[in-house]
Amino acid sequence: MSISLLGAAEIREIAERLDLHPAKSLGQNFVVDANTCQKIVRLAVISHGDHVVEIGPGLGSLTLALLQATDKVTAIEIDERLASQLPHTAADHGVTSGALSVINEDAMKVFDIPGNPTKLVANLPYNVSVPVLLTVLERFPSITSGVVMVQTEVAERLAAKPGSKTYGVPSAKAAWWCDVLLSDSVSRTVFWPVPNVDSSLVKFIRHQPLGDEALRRRTFDLIDRAFGQRRKMLRAIYSDIYGGSGEAERALLSVGIDPTIRGESLSVQRFAAIAKELDRR
Ligand code: SAM
Repeated sequence: MSISLLGAAEIREIAERLDLHPAKSLGQNFVVDANTCQKIVRLAVISHGDHVVEIGPGLGSLTLALLQATDKVTAIEIDERLASQLPHTAADHGVTSGALSVINEDAMKVFDIPGNPTKLVANLPYNVSVPVLLTVLERFPSITSGVVMVQTEVAERLAAKPGSKTYGVPSAKAAWWCDVLLSDSVSRTVFWPVPNVDSSLVKFIRHQPLGDEALRRRTFDLIDRAFGQRRKMLRAIYSDIYGGSGEAERALLSVGIDPTIRGESLSVQRFAAIAKELDRR
């Protein structure tokens, strides 16, 4: 039996049956358009051996589209009613048992996903999209690529390059793990309820690690400090760490970085160069 997708009428019917009133606090805007789900799956380039992790499957519209492309999906859903309904919806739509595993948990609290996941594909809950994405990249190194739908403003920040207005903590930290590409925008009309923000798709492809875990932690600390005081020059921002701005200036110059610039013009590789310099001390 082939797998059929969810339509708008059926989504509303399931929601009514569950007496579900979409919660803003959980970012519950469900995609009611099957074409959008198929487009996301195409962009993610899923092949049959892939084990896809979906965070926030909701009523299952994207989940079913994923299960048309692979027979291994792990869906992590915080809402108990949605998590318990999902296997029934999947079975009703022709999904064979064993193809879908559902974890009823806050994605931030999941440390183990059995069976080496290879891709992340999700319409992320908007209020936690950046921490969820960064956490998944950190905890599950077997995930090598993926596509996430997020608020357009967040998508632009994730994909921003040094020197641009939108470059910030999410851009620099995401770039530690992967190359991030801003893809298509998604119309508000494909959601129920219709959100009051625009959405876009972001594709990411993991690259070689820039260093070990200790270096990553130090680099992320430097990034947080730099963007915590955006208007200050680097030598002032890092004077605490180096015990004075003169010493910070010397250290920055030793790795070829102008101490009078601001964090917003530094790539993650440059932040990592400062972290390495600190390690040598
Ligand atoms: N994937 C579905 C779709 O496209 O129709 C639903 C996407 S909706 C934007 C976000 C989903 O994430 C909701 O089902 C919500 O309950 C769930 N969610 C919210 N916070 C979560 C968390 N911390 N961990 C796991 N799921 C979460």
